[in-house]
Amino acid sequence: MSCLEYISTDKFIYENEIRPYLPSRIFDAHVHLQIPQFHPHLEEQLPLTKAPLFNQIDMAAIHSWWKTLFPAIDVRGLILAMPTAGCDMSGINKFNSQHIDSHRERFSILTGPQFSDNELEEQVKTLKPHGLKPYMFFSMLENYNDSRITDFLPESQIAIADKYGLSITLHLAKTRGLADKVNLNEINRLVKSYPNVNFILAHCGRCFIAPNMDAALEQLIVAPNLWLDTSAVCDTGVFLHLFSRYDRKQILFGTDLVTASGFRGTYVRMGMSWDWSVESSVRRQGGQDVRATFAVYENLCAIMTAARFCCFDMSEYNDLFYANANRIFQLEQK
Ligand SMILES: [Zn+2]
Repeated sequence: MSCLEYISTDKFIYENEIRPYLPSRIFDAHVHLQIPQFHPHLEEQLPLTKAPLFNQIDMAAIHSWWKTLFPAIDVRGLILAMPTAGCDMSGINKFNSQHIDSHRERFSILTGPQFSDNELEEQVKTLKPHGLKPYMFFSMLENYNDSRITDFLPESQIAIADKYGLSITLHLAKTRGLADKVNLNEINRLVKSYPNVNFILAHCGRCFIAPNMDAALEQLIVAPNLWLDTSAVCDTGVFLHLFSRYDRKQILFGTDLVTASGFRGTYVRMGMSWDWSVESSVRRQGGQDVRATFAVYENLCAIMTAARFCCFDMSEYNDLFYANANRIFQLEQK
């Protein structure tokens, strides 16, 4: 792995806005292993991966990122396989199962309509994952952006997850993510039908902008097996809605490292959509001395600002960063 640069801007932001509220140990519920040999179209789909720092992300790289971003904090995580179109799902699942430290980490395997139920169940029995990681790239619909959950994760596979008590990390499709009525109705139904599955809605149900989180919370049920992870969302308004209107015991911290949040920049609202903004935007205004920080720090600043406005006490920070995940993944057990 090439050298990860840590600059004075990063240190200033971390020490002033993030570190004062972090507990001494944290669980990162959304981080990806990414081994290029399993992804024939990696650089086409994720151009950032052409940079050496974002190309091969093995466990050593993940530990290096955690150590740099969270110095002196004990970080563990749920290691997700990286989904790309055309990837070798079985090869990735096997590799990941062999490379995590099972005493400290938890992991999820890729699945989708490409696997038969028997194939998935065989992998669950052999590899013993803690969760499943479907993705809209694996959808049966040509326009995968318009998929319902069950278009990219057959319900029979959700039943297998229920049988083995697995988590499912869901990256919802459709323009408005969890604010879309079809997604909301489907998630509310599945959560009730499969009580042994811990459904984890990535990126706050893919609500990167406040009006989507606002609309989603009008109808989203609260249930002990339904969770939202905070990864990559950089809009303080999203977290103000979430923390003030949802059960804080059902929210998990996650980074989405490395490719989606290790770059210098942020995710910004643009009308009813959002996009990346990268460091070149700020350099244009301030010359070479002005630098952006990591998107993962922007995400943490948004979380911490909202948490302060919602008057979190220290036990609630500990819930968000560790204790809630412990209720799913029993982190004290080997
Ligand atoms: Zn992700």
